[in-house]
Amino acid sequence: MSSINGAVGRDPQKLIGLLQVVAALATCIILIAAVAGTHWLYQGYVIKVSKLDAIRTSELIVAIESRFLKPSSHSASPLTDYLDAAALDRLDQRMDKFLSPHGILKVKVFSLNGTVVYSTDRSIIGQQNANNPNLLIALQGEPVSKLQTKESFLDIKSEQRFDVDVVETYVPIRNADGVVVGCFEIYQDTTIFRDEVANGVTMSVVVLGSVLLLVFSIAYLFLKTAVNRLLDAQEKLHDLAIRDSLTGLINRREIAIRGEQEFSRYKRLSIGSEHSPYSVMMIDLDHFKSINDNYGHVVGDQVLKQVADYLAQAVRNYSNVGRYGGEEFILVLPGGSSEDAFSIAERIRSGISTQPMGFDGGAVNVTVSIGVSLVSEDDDHFEDTVNRADRALYHAKEQGRNRVSVL
Ligand code: GH3
Ligand code: MG
Ligand code: MG
Repeated sequence: MSSINGAVGRDPQKLIGLLQVVAALATCIILIAAVAGTHWLYQGYVIKVSKLDAIRTSELIVAIESRFLKPSSHSASPLTDYLDAAALDRLDQRMDKFLSPHGILKVKVFSLNGTVVYSTDRSIIGQQNANNPNLLIALQGEPVSKLQTKESFLDIKSEQRFDVDVVETYVPIRNADGVVVGCFEIYQDTTIFRDEVANGVTMSVVVLGSVLLLVFSIAYLFLKTAVNRLLDAQEKLHDLAIRDSLTGLINRREIAIRGEQEFSRYKRLSIGSEHSPYSVMMIDLDHFKSINDNYGHVVGDQVLKQVADYLAQAVRNYSNVGRYGGEEFILVLPGGSSEDAFSIAERIRSGISTQPMGFDGGAVNVTVSIGVSLVSEDDDHFEDTVNRADRALYHAKEQGRNRVSVL
């Protein structure tokens, strides 16, 4: 959990990715549960309907065939007499006519000891199925229904299997005194329910899937908007932390961080290979105090902003120009020699001195003094080069300002 918090805390985009995975997994689990649930419900419904049907059918058969199924209170079999072949044929014909319209595939009549005394499947008459637990329950007076697929069908071994799924129901047969004297087994074809089950499951999955998709899409959109706002705020906050509000340049702390990185790179690359030097430029406005004194601080601010803009566009790598403090700026120039750095500094110096800095109601000419220093092998930190550039700047000031000095 803490690693998730860590990952998400560092990158809100990861939160969205994580939630997408969770949403996909949750959708799969919910849909699988829905399929299993609705299938189970429909199956229960099919069994219940078939059971009621079977009980009604068995009552009807007892009523219609009372001539044969006329159990006496003393008999251990629901059949009154032994039926000869001709009588069986006639019974079969009547059963056929009666059962087919009700989707009943087969009927068995069991005696109390589990012997098949009659069946529409003539081949199993006389066979025993006394170990069938459902039959035993029914012989104790309780109807039982069970869904039998082609594969699970296991009654009498020699019995022919159906090639459709059926619900088999055992219904007790009672004599006039209510005593159980035998049992019906009725096989009902459930093929017609199969489509119903499939439709029901499909419908529930489609409806549930659509609802989930809608809910997760709305949640995703909300989250995405929130994360984008968060990222924006984060970026603004970061900008506020590293930039100077007046000039928009990076501040002294940030230039120190970037400078230290530049110094590490220099140290790494300078070992046993070509040096990758950089130079530092400290730029200070000359007699800036007098601008504040003569024109006011607002104009002073406007001038500072314009000098900053000039510096930013004067160098290729804008990201390495910073406001060091007050009316002092710093530049880190990667590559080149101190001569290169000097000529760039010269270009900047003369550029500023010839460009009047405008303000509301006028313009003022300013000059800058620049101290330049190239990183040296003896330096231990970025700060060492900065200090040298600062000394060079002091030198430039001492020599009369509006000039570049290199150390
Ligand atoms: P020098 O040539 O020796 O550098 O003279 P200077 O007047 O530029 O130097 P000094 O250090 O005496 O004065 C710097 C002035 O810069 C003083 C201060 O009020 C002004 N200053 C510093 N930061 C700001 C700022 O953000 N806005 C304005 N308007 N003035 C500032
Ligand atoms: Mg100054
Ligand atoms: Mg100064």
